[in-house]
Amino acid sequence: MIITLKKETPQKEITRLIGQFESRGLRVNLIQGVNYNVFGLVGDTSHLDERMILSNQWVDNVQRVQAPYKLANRMFHPEDTIVNVAGIPVGASEKVVMIAGPCVVEGEEILCTIAEEVKKAGAVMLRGGAYKPRTSPYSFQGLGTEGIRELAAAREKTGLPVVSELMSIDRIEEFEENVDLIQIGARNMQNFDLLKAVGKVNKPVLLKRGMSATIEEWIMSAEYIMSSGNPNVILCERGIRTFEKYTRNTMDLAVIPLIREKTHLPIIIDPSHATGDWKLVKAVSLAAVAAGADGLIIECHTKPEEALSDGMQSLKPEKYAELVRDARRVAQAVGRDL
Ligand code: PEP
Ligand code: MN
Repeated sequence: MIITLKKETPQKEITRLIGQFESRGLRVNLIQGVNYNVFGLVGDTSHLDERMILSNQWVDNVQRVQAPYKLANRMFHPEDTIVNVAGIPVGASEKVVMIAGPCVVEGEEILCTIAEEVKKAGAVMLRGGAYKPRTSPYSFQGLGTEGIRELAAAREKTGLPVVSELMSIDRIEEFEENVDLIQIGARNMQNFDLLKAVGKVNKPVLLKRGMSATIEEWIMSAEYIMSSGNPNVILCERGIRTFEKYTRNTMDLAVIPLIREKTHLPIIIDPSHATGDWKLVKAVSLAAVAAGADGLIIECHTKPEEALSDGMQSLKPEKYAELVRDARRVAQAVGRDL
């Protein structure tokens, strides 16, 4: 971290600041110029708050050299992390994982039918929400505990591990017992108590990017989970909110190489929420695999027109099968399997 002090800073204040940083275990290199004084802080500065330093009247500027995240940072962990989800490895040069299923669990029979269909098409995990963050309180909110039970039943039937969204801390035990990959949704990306709570759970976490979150804020949320004790975090880009209206969200494809550069965590893409339109899902999926995504989480439904949530962006199983076939060819072209 580089801190620039105003020219007129009293020597007493400079000495006090040096002492303050040194007492926090940092080495301070002071460069005294004619017009300014510059501190270079050497050591772990992740616990320093730039804005707090800036609140000192003598401080002119603060610049971070090192990212504020440590555990997620590629710099301190050069090798790719592989997250194991019920025996399925996610990340590094492992197979691109295909996750599919309905937006929301609607009943055991239809869930099992969808699960069998997507498995036949090539999915290796089943998604389905039981607790749904709906914009309107009048929309279907999910089946709750019954939905989780149905997911477990579908896993029993098909052997597919299950992914579901956790919305509140009071359901953690239920998820720890029944869900293989705990999803933290876009709306809860900065629910810090929830992040800390899943940080104490012995299950991998799928952390979606908040709809208006910067990449750094998103990584900091992963850091919350990791610093609470859970290193098994998979990041999931699901599109961000922009001025564009033709798509539900704007797919930020550049995050794939960027996340790889900044972190060692696996990254998967959700082209369903990113586009909001089933007709766009395949093209975005292929682009994501070409860009190096470690997996795709895609909404599928046997009767999208009757789906209780997100039917418009849900693929029918035959379309999903087509997508998997093409994505496999793209994956192979970039040296991965699927
Ligand atoms: C979902 O996966 O069904 C969902 C609600 O996603 P997001 O949190 O990305 O909106
Ligand atoms: Mn959905």
